[in-house]
Amino acid sequence: SAGTLRVRDLTIALPGPRGMADVVDGVSFDMVEGRTTGLIGESGSGKSLTAMALVGLIPDTGVATGQVLLGEENLLTAGRARIRQIRGAEISVVFQDPSTALNPTMTIGDQVGEILRSRGLSRRQARERAADLLDHVGIPDAAGRVGAYPHEFSGGMRQRAMIALALAGRPRFVLADEPTTALDVTVQARILDLLGRLRDEDNLSMLLVSHDLRVMSHVADDLVVMYAGRVCERGPAKAVLNRPLHPYTDALVRSVPSVRVRSAIADPLPGSPANPFDRPAGCPFHPRCPRAEDRCRTEVPELREIAPGRVSACHFAELAQRTPDTVAEELR
Ligand code: SF4
Ligand code: MG
Repeated sequence: SAGTLRVRDLTIALPGPRGMADVVDGVSFDMVEGRTTGLIGESGSGKSLTAMALVGLIPDTGVATGQVLLGEENLLTAGRARIRQIRGAEISVVFQDPSTALNPTMTIGDQVGEILRSRGLSRRQARERAADLLDHVGIPDAAGRVGAYPHEFSGGMRQRAMIALALAGRPRFVLADEPTTALDVTVQARILDLLGRLRDEDNLSMLLVSHDLRVMSHVADDLVVMYAGRVCERGPAKAVLNRPLHPYTDALVRSVPSVRVRSAIADPLPGSPANPFDRPAGCPFHPRCPRAEDRCRTEVPELREIAPGRVSACHFAELAQRTPDTVAEELR
């Protein structure tokens, strides 16, 4: 449907020490209207690259194949001019660092207004709507602040201004890459609340990229867990966090004690992330996996549906689904 952005078999090759390597390999997921999709993984998992590829923002030396479908249009084969048209209008990006998006020499109101005027509003209408937008993203005394410059804002306010900028073109899809990482915890929580509110009020579809499971547990409706450039698990966020169907997700959850009430102690993730340019054979997680068996070292696990809406790329995902409760049910 028009309210869904469908990513199918997205593969991104980048030049590495031993030639081109698929650092993102066969990634598929949907961004659904009114929902936040969380894209989580460690550094090198390819999550940022995946998100940026949706709007053509991969390095010039990279090659993206597969499909990013907006309706029936594949954005991966659309021309640069068409992508420019889509970016900011249909799909907007909120970056980690507001300074990459905000112009230090222009007032906040003029920057938001410039986008609005390019969409046909008069100077006066643009100024009024800019103040509305700044108010919408929670900037106090917005009308009095349209004339302020970015440096006159705090970090949290600049992040809000960038979100206003991202919303000015009335996008249906918003991509946010670690949008709160640079902020302190209190401000972080407020920005995440804001993104959730905007998603609901404007019926937006959001893609939130983060390495932080705590952030995800607060805002994501759906989760896509990436490891070494591949999706290892996908499903509704609550279900995934409560009962992971992949040992990597399980390890992530255990590394953050507050995510699951049952455990009070954090188990740090063992080992280090896979090198995306030199992915281990078989299951890329096998060198770190407590459940790895011989076949894991040679046979690549397919992403399979294990339960309705739940997919996992683990040879033994069915075992993870069996807990003492379900075994008791089966025996009854
Ligand atoms: Fe672990 Fe094997 Fe499952 Fe990979 S396929 S996550 S190594 S058990
Ligand atoms: Mg990143």
